[in-house]
Amino acid sequence: MSSETLLEVKQLKKHFPVHSGLLLRQTGSVYAVDGVSFDLAKGETLGLVGESGCGKSTAARTVVRIYEPTAGDICFNGQSVTGLKGSALLEFRRNVTMVFQDPFSSLNPRMTIAKILETPLRVHKLGTAKERRQKVRELLNRVGLGDWAQARYPHEFSGGQRQRIAIARAISLRPQLVVADEPVSALDVSVQAQILNLFKDLQDDLGMAYLFIAHDLALVKHISHRIAVMYLGKVVEMAGRDALFDNPRHPYTQALIKANPTPGHGQRKKRQALGGDVPSPLSPPSGCHFHPRCPHAQPQCQQELPQLRNLGAELRPHLVSCHFAEKLSGATV
Ligand code: SF4
Repeated sequence: MSSETLLEVKQLKKHFPVHSGLLLRQTGSVYAVDGVSFDLAKGETLGLVGESGCGKSTAARTVVRIYEPTAGDICFNGQSVTGLKGSALLEFRRNVTMVFQDPFSSLNPRMTIAKILETPLRVHKLGTAKERRQKVRELLNRVGLGDWAQARYPHEFSGGQRQRIAIARAISLRPQLVVADEPVSALDVSVQAQILNLFKDLQDDLGMAYLFIAHDLALVKHISHRIAVMYLGKVVEMAGRDALFDNPRHPYTQALIKANPTPGHGQRKKRQALGGDVPSPLSPPSGCHFHPRCPHAQPQCQQELPQLRNLGAELRPHLVSCHFAEKLSGATV
């Protein structure tokens, strides 16, 4: 893994206006992503985790410019991409591709697999028609499907096979970064491991970085070098994979690990460790957004928003946003 920075996300915000009344006046905002910062090195995988509604998918879609950011900056290879248009945006999209959760809705049902895989190559004017056909064959073989898949349509494949096709399309342009938004959540457990192994093999061969979104910490652990945990639009903890699992410092991370225990961390039975739901991002709780669910909350937590602080080493940061993280390290929820 190279330490050269590929992606830098700085204080990214994505707020969606809420309109109501007869005149559809703006009456509020959904603070889906509210000041998120992280970076990603070339060839690295950063897992972004949290419960549904914590803003991780919105963050991913803002990074790839599906959504325009409300504030903040996104730098790719040292260049800001927030204002890109035209051919510069097309070039960015060649270098940053996406795999979605539901491969069925992300693949055009009226196109054959050969057409689906050839389209990005054609849009980016890569190769002759003959070279593109050869590339499609190589891509299908690379993701574990054969030539037989070319003339078929998406509905003729299983969920796992469709996700292989979506991955083939994502790597067709040899991107430097693939953003994978819950790419195995809709698949059977037996198929999930195969697709995760495919992601890892492709990274070993092609060297691209992954921003890997999931709600299941155990899945993210399998594939990530570092992990960022999001809660209600903010990153609450970010550290190397082993540091995060061996010494989770934020009560929310501790609860997620208890709810999704992984072999080797002492708890094999899945159990509920966190009560209640994520509050509405329309009106986040005051102070620490986690305080209504936090068993360690103190009066200070309702008033003061904790900042991300580095409790690790300078070269191996372990960032946590909790007023009492030092006291709570290793505590169980
Ligand atoms: Fe819990 Fe307070 Fe820490 Fe927030 S700041 S996680 S409420 S202890």
